[in-house]
Amino acid sequence: MAVEPVLVDEGRLHDYVADIFLAASSSDREARLIARHLVDSNLRGHDSHGVGSIPIYVRNLQSGDLLPNQSLTTVTETDSLLICDGNGGYGQVMAHDAIAIGIVKARDKGVALVGLRNSHHVGRIGHWAEQCAAAGLVSIHFVNVVSDPSVAPFGGVAARVGTNPFSVGIPRDGKRPIVLDFATSKLAVGKVRVAMNQGKPLPPGALLTADGQPTTDPSILFGQPKGILLPFGDHKGWGLSFVCELLGAALTGGKTQSGPKKRNATINCMLSIIISPEHLGTTDVISPEIDTFVGWVRSGGNAGVLLPGDLEAATTDERKAGGVPIDAISWSDIVAAGRQVGAEPPANIHRDGVADHITQTG
Ligand code: NAD
Repeated sequence: MAVEPVLVDEGRLHDYVADIFLAASSSDREARLIARHLVDSNLRGHDSHGVGSIPIYVRNLQSGDLLPNQSLTTVTETDSLLICDGNGGYGQVMAHDAIAIGIVKARDKGVALVGLRNSHHVGRIGHWAEQCAAAGLVSIHFVNVVSDPSVAPFGGVAARVGTNPFSVGIPRDGKRPIVLDFATSKLAVGKVRVAMNQGKPLPPGALLTADGQPTTDPSILFGQPKGILLPFGDHKGWGLSFVCELLGAALTGGKTQSGPKKRNATINCMLSIIISPEHLGTTDVISPEIDTFVGWVRSGGNAGVLLPGDLEAATTDERKAGGVPIDAISWSDIVAAGRQVGAEPPANIHRDGVADHITQTG
């Protein structure tokens, strides 16, 4: 049964999330980087990678599978290359810091290759493409997921990989960047969790039961025996997922998915290629050429066609103005996880007062 969402103010949500991670022994910088990333994911409309992740992060912290206040360890470094280890620390810090180093290198040398391995969940990959785009740089990101396998290869019936995401960011003069960002499964696991919490069925064709029967029941993915997600785009999505595994993990010296989950944490490895249009001598032409192409794409009755990142930009505007909706079950789980580490939600966090009883009674 679908339940009314809670509507939360963005700024107060950010401060509450930062308070939770401060209470969970993160430094002020770490708590703020995590809060910014999670709340931005909700703003973009990717609730799967937003504040609904807090109960999972707190659980992983308490089991020792996620370590607070870690720093990157450099494995290999040259003027244009970085391979680093995230030491099982918060991906919101590890990826931020690895990409920040890559940005400096790309600005200096024209192109940088950054391999981050062994990081806790790096969240919404578009966030890292946006970090590069804000610095005027193009970026491409291949990511693997080491957790309980949830996605079957095309033509297979057993889950062998995670939802291995892929992202590309391209800055534009005076306009928001193009940001392509998706899981290589038909649905991200977090989206299946959100649908389950909202009491909504999945679209057909995304999920199978453990014995291979099509289902639209999201709870099947979290039950035992566990359901199986399918790759998007049949053999093509599977191929992209496969190379995310090889480039994100094998090439960076990280671990590929190789069996059932050994620890609670979701570990990501990410290979990022960061390119400076300035060094290519194309700074002046890239934006006008994109504009020409977009004009062509949207001609001939195609005016309503969306570009990668359009939906996220519109959702961000809407949620900044009107508040961030969070389904009542996820909100209750977030508040409970916050209380486990000693953080209380501020009394004025709701925009509409719909679920004030949750903050009063837990
Ligand atoms: P999705 O299916 O919503 O696809 C998003 C992409 O498609 C965006 O680039 C969006 O702009 C574009 N898009 C959406 N609707 C469109 C339309 N009608 N026309 C044109 N373009 C459109 O994304 P997803 O697969 O559910 O992934 C959600 C998030 O999960 C992503 O941010 C991804 O990085 C993240 N993720 C992270 C992990 C991890 O382990 N860290 C794993 C999987 C997914």
